[in-house]
Amino acid sequence: MANRAIKYRAYPTTKQSVMFAKTFGCCRKVYNLMLSDKIEGYKATGKFPTVTPAKYKNDYPYLREVDSLALANKQMDLQEAFHNTFSKSRKKKNGFPKFKSAKHSRKSYTTNNQKGTVAIIDNKCIKLPKIGKVKAVIHRVPDDSWTIKSATVSQESDGKYYISVLFEFENTVNPYVADKTNAIGLDYASDGLYVDSNGNTGTNHKYYRESHNKLAKAQRKLSRMQGSKKHEVKSNNYIKQLRKVNKIHRHIANQRLDNLHKMSTEIANQYDVVCVESLNMKAMSNKGFGNGKATLDNGYGMLLSMLEYKLSDRNKYFIKVDKWFPSSQICHCCGMLHPEMKNLAIRKMTCNCGLTISRDQNAAINILKEGLRLLTEVARN
Ligand SMILES: [Zn+2]
Repeated sequence: MANRAIKYRAYPTTKQSVMFAKTFGCCRKVYNLMLSDKIEGYKATGKFPTVTPAKYKNDYPYLREVDSLALANKQMDLQEAFHNTFSKSRKKKNGFPKFKSAKHSRKSYTTNNQKGTVAIIDNKCIKLPKIGKVKAVIHRVPDDSWTIKSATVSQESDGKYYISVLFEFENTVNPYVADKTNAIGLDYASDGLYVDSNGNTGTNHKYYRESHNKLAKAQRKLSRMQGSKKHEVKSNNYIKQLRKVNKIHRHIANQRLDNLHKMSTEIANQYDVVCVESLNMKAMSNKGFGNGKATLDNGYGMLLSMLEYKLSDRNKYFIKVDKWFPSSQICHCCGMLHPEMKNLAIRKMTCNCGLTISRDQNAAINILKEGLRLLTEVARN
């Protein structure tokens, strides 16, 4: 069995958003109560007691109004947090679980599907326990054979709602047999996204720059407000402006995601083998979605991860070529090494064999050739 989460934008009614806010609050309340009881229990007995949300329902009857599975999942979260605190593996090691503050904790909750309590209806709503049908944009329709495991409702800092639905499906072998000659190579291009071995460029949409200009302007305004109000309580106008900046950030992230999805789907539909250069993503990227400039730099990495799963879904090949392979220094035609190409300012390669080609396309062709070589090597072993 395999899992995939798809995050849908949701448009709750006022009544539903009040209920969401209540559920976020109850989840936080229960988490804090359980954590506090664990700490008190430890002080008294030297052991962390097991705590469940059920025991608080008499003292806090409003907990009964919200989805009980959301509260039960908070118990799991807390268990997980404790587990990570005392985990021997360094990677997972976190500090001691913290109390969740109303101001800074993430507004979200997760509920589980129990025989259809969570469902996508008519490709325009998502049904949730205690909430009912919430209007949503179903930009990606799940396969009929997929089943829903759970749904996570969240509200972002800009006020927008999302429902991330986790699907489970059988990982059946796709009967499609890839044609290994239908292949393409991609080379990372700093000014766009990539240049392929046919010389085509993947580009960010033109409205992209417009949004970035708008963002820069809104951010300048925000920092001016910050400068003058340093020691005072944040004004309403400041908060308004902050919301505006966040909204533009999310708009850009969405535009970018849409564009990357379109590009990767087109490539995955058209080609059976896609060869790419494995770049050092850590150096190129940063914290991921959400903040403008940083995500701009991360587009290529996101494109690669989309290509990876879309090709795998279609039973096709995604091949990473070692980043130390000197793809831009070898003439793809005769194999001659051109150390002068280390200079990134040289955009064209001219070889003794008579070939003149753009630096990026030559690199993409070399990545393609190297990828196909790796593919036959894997097939042989
Ligand atoms: Zn040559």
